[in-house]
Amino acid sequence: MTTAPTIAVVGSGPIGATYARVLLEKLPDARVVMFEAGPQLTDRPGASVRNIADPQEKERARERAQGPQAGQYRAALGIPDSVVAEGMFTARGGTHLLDFGGPGAAHTAQFPAAAASTNVGGMGAHWTCATPAPSFSERIGFIDDDEWDDLIAEAERLLHVRHAAFADSAISAAISSLLADGFAGMLPDGYGPSTLPVAGDPQPDGSMAWAGADVVLGPLIEAGTSEAARFTLHDLTLVRRIEHDGGRVTGVTVEDLRTGTHRTVPADLVVVAADSFRSPQLLWASGIRPAALGRYLTEHHVVISTVALDGERMARLVSEDELARELARRALNPADPVGAVNRIPFSEPGHPFSLQVMYAENPPFPLDPAHPAAGNRWGYVNMGYGVRKHPRVEDGVRFDEGERDYRGFPNMTIEYALTPAEEAEIAQATALLRRAAGALGDFVAEPRLLPNGSSLHYMGTMRMGAADDGTSVADPYSRVWGYSHLLVGGNGLIPTANTVNPTLTSVAIAVRGARRVAAELAGN
Ligand code: FAD
Repeated sequence: MTTAPTIAVVGSGPIGATYARVLLEKLPDARVVMFEAGPQLTDRPGASVRNIADPQEKERARERAQGPQAGQYRAALGIPDSVVAEGMFTARGGTHLLDFGGPGAAHTAQFPAAAASTNVGGMGAHWTCATPAPSFSERIGFIDDDEWDDLIAEAERLLHVRHAAFADSAISAAISSLLADGFAGMLPDGYGPSTLPVAGDPQPDGSMAWAGADVVLGPLIEAGTSEAARFTLHDLTLVRRIEHDGGRVTGVTVEDLRTGTHRTVPADLVVVAADSFRSPQLLWASGIRPAALGRYLTEHHVVISTVALDGERMARLVSEDELARELARRALNPADPVGAVNRIPFSEPGHPFSLQVMYAENPPFPLDPAHPAAGNRWGYVNMGYGVRKHPRVEDGVRFDEGERDYRGFPNMTIEYALTPAEEAEIAQATALLRRAAGALGDFVAEPRLLPNGSSLHYMGTMRMGAADDGTSVADPYSRVWGYSHLLVGGNGLIPTANTVNPTLTSVAIAVRGARRVAAELAGN
């Protein structure tokens, strides 16, 4: 291998950023060229738009991430204004539905909320930053526990994970304590209610600077570093094709979306980290088609509700002064009102679910002023149970050579169905959500199952496996079976049925792939 390898990375989300960072740190002569189809939204590449203080500026950044639905693209694509592009349970701010209702939209009737972000930093510029680690059967069996622990520790370092964010919040402690009472005797030691780990840097005023791909890039975007001198990021540049010859990948062909010009960029290694739908689509469009490509799609089915916190129970645990302090701190950053975030993690056999509990002063929808819980001074919690999907080859995305999407790629159709086993776990999770609500207060919104795709955590479509037996796309080091010099990254690699938020796991998997390929490129 050449002593000064050029590495092309497709996609600038947290996973592309992980590859760029680890490879440049490990290979002192390597260069990384990163291509991102969307625009750069913030001065610092890949920063979280949640950190933008000005609400209008934040909204504008989100709109620019929304690909074909964004204002400036709508007219050109012939999409009428009446097509719903964004809504609370359709596409979240900063994302766009794959089926946006216009010409060239994907077909997602069975998975209607499928969405993506198209911007520097990917979904990582919009994410909630929840970073719990996988446990029990959520871990991948062929990676041993010691290595998992090491990979997770490195992923936490790269993402700036905090285990005790908002730990001083009296409201958070009270919610945790009420949940512990409600679930007493049900959960194994160490897997009871706790603070949700999140990625970000606490600020002196008590607020949080949320992490995006920028923190993962780290020295690559700091002026004057050796890594920055060897890193180039091209935004608004769409990778159209992965070039290969006789099974060896040789580079990528890209389109500059500002000028429409195409060029082929030779590379010693190509890393595709362009999300769980568009990565397989790019591979497929390039003629790279392992049997499992796009199949085994999983996500977390989500059952949500909103509960008004019970005043009497809260007052026993939180003083008036503590409540006032909490509200004052939250008022400092009204545009990003995340304060106390609690959870009950996945554990087996009794609780194979994840519960996420977010405290908020107001419900996320207008509450009738006549409702008995309207204006509840103790606030509310928005709770969601994540329920796992068991991988099946029947669930996945198909590509159609005969029909092009709005970008000119083979169009996508998502096939997906819940099995009786999953329906049963959804019913169980709904009962547990009622139990959690009973511990905390009264429903202002009854539990309901969100449409398929709502989790935004799409997994399995490029799953890794221990053997090239047709049920996986990549080997245990993320190398695509049957091809050399080609790695894939992202949630699509996760082969297990799980409920844990996937980004930390995917960064850990990327660290593993990057370390191995760096050693190979270095000739070790
Ligand atoms: P992405 O971040 O999706 O980045 C992929 C990038 O590739 C995109 O920018 C895309 O434009 C680009 N791309 C696609 N095709 C091409 C091409 N052909 N050429 C060039 N570029 C291309 N996860 C958690 O773990 N915890 C959470 O709390 C959480 N909350 C979330 C909340 C929201 C609102 C959203 C939107 C997501 C959330 N997620 C969360 C999911 C998390 O953001 C993703 O897991 C993570 O961003 C995946 O990283 P990635 O780099 O694989 O892909």
